[in-house]
Amino acid sequence: MALARELRAGIAAEVTALRDAGRRPPCLAVVLVGDNPASLSYIKGKRRACARAGIDSREHTLPADSSERAVLDQIDALNRDDGVDGILVQLPLPKGIRATTITEATDPAKDVDGLHTRNAGRLLAGLPGLRPCTPLGILEVLDRHRVPLEGARAVVVGRSTLVGKPVALLLLERHATVTICHSRTRDLAAVCRDADVLIACAGSPLLIRGDWIRPGAAVIDLGVNVVDGQQVGDVDFDEALGIASLITPSRGGVGPLTITMLLRNTLEAYEARCGIGRTA
Ligand code: NAP
Repeated sequence: MALARELRAGIAAEVTALRDAGRRPPCLAVVLVGDNPASLSYIKGKRRACARAGIDSREHTLPADSSERAVLDQIDALNRDDGVDGILVQLPLPKGIRATTITEATDPAKDVDGLHTRNAGRLLAGLPGLRPCTPLGILEVLDRHRVPLEGARAVVVGRSTLVGKPVALLLLERHATVTICHSRTRDLAAVCRDADVLIACAGSPLLIRGDWIRPGAAVIDLGVNVVDGQQVGDVDFDEALGIASLITPSRGGVGPLTITMLLRNTLEAYEARCGIGRTA
């Protein structure tokens, strides 16, 4: 996606300027437990993106049958390693290893996924901090398309800690009037029809039909679902095309922005740790 490429070029230029000034490059450490093929592919994408941006990346792979203690020991070592600026634990984790326990053990200053309760709390309180990558990517797409957010009716379908809740808070911060929907929402179609900005992050294939979309609405589809071997979103893309003013595809839509925001968070964590920072 052109936007992701452009933002990554900007990040790479900032890293080059740091190196030219004699500083070490930022460093992202990725922890993988097990060998989930989807996780391996995501990590490959992150490794490549870091290399292109001049950001160092390290991978720490632990066996699938690792104890939670072993993962916590790895996190502890990375927390104490002064040369590591960002720590990312690839999800999902094998059974028996609690994602929240691992996230909470991560130094909030290195929490480039923005999932530690300290960073989540700072988002809720309107204070600067590391924000989750996918929600940041969604805002970048809306801003690039100059979608007005102030006073807009925004509907978020999904209330996960990873996407739904933080994107709702970011939209609220930008003065949208936000409704968060979930699996128990009554008459979801009617709520969606009211949206100027519709964010679909339910993980439910083709849930949102063309006639759920208000003409001219901006629709961001996060859904990554596989149906009959094909990747489809949460929104019926073909139906949405003639109705929405903006519709992002499931493949190649917000995904590349998520990795881009990971690079930016790593750079921001580095700057804050080195005292050059933009974040508090
Ligand atoms: P999640 O943790 O499974 O949360 C899904 C949310 O959607 C839940 O709040 C659930 O409601 C709600 N939901 C599910 N089915 C629904 C329905 N039929 N009607 C209304 N609400 C419904 O998922 P997630 O981690 O947020 O991810 C959501 C989707 O985004 C997935 O397809 C994921 O693969 C994708 N994703 C994409 C990116 C990217 O970069 N492109 C990044 C992250 C995630 P309840 O709370 O009531 O169960």
